[in-house]
Amino acid sequence: MEVDMWTRIAQNLLPAPRCHLCQAPTTTTDGLCGACARDLPRLGAACTHCGLPLARAEAGTLCGSCLADPPPFDQALMPFRYAPPIDRLIGALKFRHDLAAGTLLGQLLASAVAGRSVDSLFPIPLHPARLRERGFNQAAELCRVVARAHDIPWDSRSLQRLRATPAQHISSRRERLRNLRGAFAWQGNTPPARVALIDDVVTTGATARAAAATLKRAGAEWVEIWAVARTPPTHTGNF
Ligand SMILES: [Zn+2]
Ligand SMILES: [Zn+2]
Repeated sequence: MEVDMWTRIAQNLLPAPRCHLCQAPTTTTDGLCGACARDLPRLGAACTHCGLPLARAEAGTLCGSCLADPPPFDQALMPFRYAPPIDRLIGALKFRHDLAAGTLLGQLLASAVAGRSVDSLFPIPLHPARLRERGFNQAAELCRVVARAHDIPWDSRSLQRLRATPAQHISSRRERLRNLRGAFAWQGNTPPARVALIDDVVTTGATARAAAATLKRAGAEWVEIWAVARTPPTHTGNF
């Protein structure tokens, strides 16, 4: 009797779950109501290798730059365009350390990669100076949620960043790639055969290329890129 009474009181005290975006009451477990989940900016037709949005894509379609110069990673999964409200959520995680936004984005990424089979996850590391300044690595926050959702081990130590991301004004792809050569180092045991690199947003793909190449050199056979969002292409040949 007494237990029932306390259970009832506790239930009345607990706030009803609300949609993270519109605050409407929701019964879903991922923190979004049905309407907001439907309105998310899904990437849609994209290169099956690098995720570059394409006007029309059929199964197995590759973009021009992947045909001409295949990236060192084997597959990229990026469920969303970097557009509202995904860009706002990523900003909230990155610049305000909004953990609720991080959990939501991590869960969205986790459902996008359901069914993939990899042995270990590696968040794209921040340069140590940037990590000190920010206090946390947003990619590691996402990685933690995805790893827990699919019960995959993750490692935020073996892949290290030796140099910061090149400035955005370096616009030529060749220059960016040259700048990122040697940006990452591997300091651990041989990685498992199949791995995924986790990031919040892929912009030029130069970082993903450099990190994937480092994992391949360390001994990984299959490297996937799992990122929440892809920026819309502003010019061709991003990868
Ligand atoms: Zn909503
Ligand atoms: Zn491509």
